[in-house]
Amino acid sequence: MDTLYDADRMNDPRAIVEADRAHVWHHLIQNKVFETVDPRIIVEGKGLRVWDIKGKEHVDAVSGGVWTVNIGYGRERVADAVRDQLVKMCYFAGSAGSIPGARYAEALTARMPGLSRVYFANSGSEANEKAFKMVRQIAHKHHGGRKHKILYRDRDYHGTTIACLSAGGQQERNAMYGPFAPGFVQVPHCLEYRAGDLAGEGYGERAANAIEEVILREGPDTIGALCLEPITAGGGIIVPPKGYWERVQEICRKYDILLHIDEVVCGFGRTGTWFGYQQYGIQPDIVTMAKGVASGYAAISCCVTTEAVFDMFKDDTDRLGYFRDISTFGGCTSGPAAALEVMAITEEEDLLGNSTRMGAYLNGKLHELMDKHACIGEVRGLGLFQGAELVADRSTREPLEEKKVQAIVADCMAQGVIIGASNRSMPGFNNTLLFAPALIATKGDLDEVVAGVDAAIQRIVG
Ligand code: PMP
Repeated sequence: MDTLYDADRMNDPRAIVEADRAHVWHHLIQNKVFETVDPRIIVEGKGLRVWDIKGKEHVDAVSGGVWTVNIGYGRERVADAVRDQLVKMCYFAGSAGSIPGARYAEALTARMPGLSRVYFANSGSEANEKAFKMVRQIAHKHHGGRKHKILYRDRDYHGTTIACLSAGGQQERNAMYGPFAPGFVQVPHCLEYRAGDLAGEGYGERAANAIEEVILREGPDTIGALCLEPITAGGGIIVPPKGYWERVQEICRKYDILLHIDEVVCGFGRTGTWFGYQQYGIQPDIVTMAKGVASGYAAISCCVTTEAVFDMFKDDTDRLGYFRDISTFGGCTSGPAAALEVMAITEEEDLLGNSTRMGAYLNGKLHELMDKHACIGEVRGLGLFQGAELVADRSTREPLEEKKVQAIVADCMAQGVIIGASNRSMPGFNNTLLFAPALIATKGDLDEVVAGVDAAIQRIVG
């Protein structure tokens, strides 16, 4: 009998590579390269290690490419929990709830004092869209449509949809996709290393004051929310300067602006606390999260709000009073089932503590590299989320050519060390190496990563 799918052939690695080359459209890359280079196919993972289809082993310092697999690969108990849940009740959407959903919402909000409501979705972009829609609806319902603008920051990223790109501070990611949604307004970044004359004592407050200037220019009664990453991730690991967050919160309160923190990357221990914002003692109104929720074992995201935000959707005298939104796959139970196990593992293995300890270790090791290589202009980060900004000249801070930055990443890959670089999205400033290994990383793992980077820099920059 003729068959459209030849299972035997599809066990052959060569055939898989060819099928991929012929039919898969890869994310985030000029696919023409696959005319001459084989696509990389990752087939197995355990702990911090992954193996590709050619059998080559790698140490993964970017948790699945984009900082997602916080608990590491091959966790059977997560797979077991998902399996058990799927055979019992895989999915039901609409207005119904689920057992893992209820359990997870309670467990999650217990770790986020001041927040109490969880809206389930399945990607970071989608969670952010939910937040934007909430802000818009609050504007229509409670402010006569006025407080509808959403502020976002230069260099931050909030997702791939048109609305998320409208709130995107990375030029090249946006360049081909306009026109964008109206009502999104940019505020300046807070990278002191690139702040020119503004840098120096008191910079944190000055950087936050720059947000207030935008608010006053636009009119505070037109602004509904300020959406920020706690630490700008793909935009170059920008750890906000001292005094920044306190002032940001003060400004939001002063002008009745909701503070929306995008924890898609920084959540779930990446910086050493459950959430990045918890490093700064601030109290957001809306928090979105995705990658680390189920650590890549299932697709789930959450938009978490205060009870005060939730209460603004309770007018049952108005047909448009509730949040008229749905996420079809927000009804998948695999997400919260996996997320509950991920949370248990994170606590049982003290991965938050390990992120803090190993983050400090990695930071120290990168500083040692900086002593050795003049092309490292600055090392910055928090927990197991570290960056090294590369420069052609330390005194002028001229960024290292992107070609060389990419060559360093490629050299590491050839050595079996997977690292990242800022998102090829900010013309002239895609020059930060990124490190975000799983939170189980040991000193030995990190030594291996840093040794790889050391050798790569030596070869590429000299
Ligand atoms: N927010 C931030 C801070 C991100 O880094 C990303 C993705 N890298 C997103 C949102 C979008 O998440 P997703 O790709 O799951 O839509």
